[in-house]
Amino acid sequence: MGHSAVIIGAGISGLSTARALKRHGWSVTVLEQAAALPTSGTMLGMWPAAMKALDGIGVDASRRTVGWAHIAAGAGTRLWTPAGRTLLTAPGGADVNLVSRPALLAALARDIDVSFNTHVIEAEQLDDAELVVGADGTFSRTRQRMFGDRFRARSLGAVAWRGTVKGAVAEYGETWAPGALFGITPAGPDATNWYACIRADRTFDGPHLPHVVNHFGTWHRGVGELIGTIEENAILHHGLFEAPKLHSFVAGKTALVGDAAHAMAPFLGRGACEAIVDGATLGRSVAQASSVEAGLAVFDKERRARTQRLVLASRLMGKFAMLDAGSGIRNAAVGAVDRLVKPRPRRDPTLPRH
Ligand SMILES: Cc1cc2nc3c(=O)[nH]c(=O)nc-3n(C[C@H](O)[C@H](O)[C@H](O)COP(=O)(O)OP(=O)(O)OC[C@H]3O[C@@H](n4cnc5c(N)ncnc54)[C@H](O)[C@@H]3O)c2cc1C
Repeated sequence: MGHSAVIIGAGISGLSTARALKRHGWSVTVLEQAAALPTSGTMLGMWPAAMKALDGIGVDASRRTVGWAHIAAGAGTRLWTPAGRTLLTAPGGADVNLVSRPALLAALARDIDVSFNTHVIEAEQLDDAELVVGADGTFSRTRQRMFGDRFRARSLGAVAWRGTVKGAVAEYGETWAPGALFGITPAGPDATNWYACIRADRTFDGPHLPHVVNHFGTWHRGVGELIGTIEENAILHHGLFEAPKLHSFVAGKTALVGDAAHAMAPFLGRGACEAIVDGATLGRSVAQASSVEAGLAVFDKERRARTQRLVLASRLMGKFAMLDAGSGIRNAAVGAVDRLVKPRPRRDPTLPRH
């Protein structure tokens, strides 16, 4: 008889894990509390490791198939102050691919049977499974079942609004202010993705556009013009959380992947990428090992320290971007770095020196 696994959650991590295990001959059952996969959502930046992992689990990571927006190497992105002063023009060393979350989920779910409307409440439901994968997100009940109530997600004391608007804009980048930031990225040939974040201890009631206007409406023209095109019903709003540091992503025959294992602040745009790599790694580790336990130990070793460093780095990046005291010094330092790394115009040696 073949191997079988139960996966809780049909998000990016659960579906990536399902694909990886299936490719290695496992039969998988994916249990999802929602009625269907989401059909709306914003863009996710995909780093090269995630693109490679997608290839490895049989998702054709091409623009044609999944609808990537693509910032070519060298295109660059900017960093501004709210008044519109450019602090940095990042040279854009590597290609960056952006994919819409619903398109990515649909591609990952192809050929995977998902049991929707199935809310997993108790672990007993899973007793017979050879391998259980907790892919149930930031507020993972699986994590709490494995390690106790102390291991709940922690608020980062910040909230985000985000969405997509019609039309392309002239320049992409982030604007940093004390306690707030606003980001603009492409979302395809005729759409633009935006995200806005402020420090706050609680989420806000709708309507949301007035809050966005209130916090960011007086910022420079690029932000102001974009805000002018936002539609109220296309705004997502939520608090930002991170997972507690775990001493293991594994207990017995159960493993955590994605946000359940390492939910992180969004400031480095890595959560979904790492969720895909988790799934690919878990599938390979379990398939190549002599037992499920041995495979899970390899998975934990390969993934835990690395993703926990990213949790820390993402939190620090948010603190740096939204710094209060010292933001003037930070801006001066960023500007100095920009001047140092920018290629200087070459002097024509045939011209006389003055
Ligand atoms: C503002 C913002 C911007 C981001 N930008 C980026 C980016 O540019 N690039 C990037 O790589 N990442 C980004 N991320 C992070 C990324 O969205 C997440 O890391 C990723 O979606 C995590 O996927 P997941 O499958 O682990 O969790 P989730 O997407 O939360 O999926 C968990 C699933 O489990 C289901 N579930 C939960 N409990 C149960 C239960 N008891 N029974 C059954 N089903 C259950 C849920 O319904 C859900 O479908 C961003 C995050 C935020 C907040």
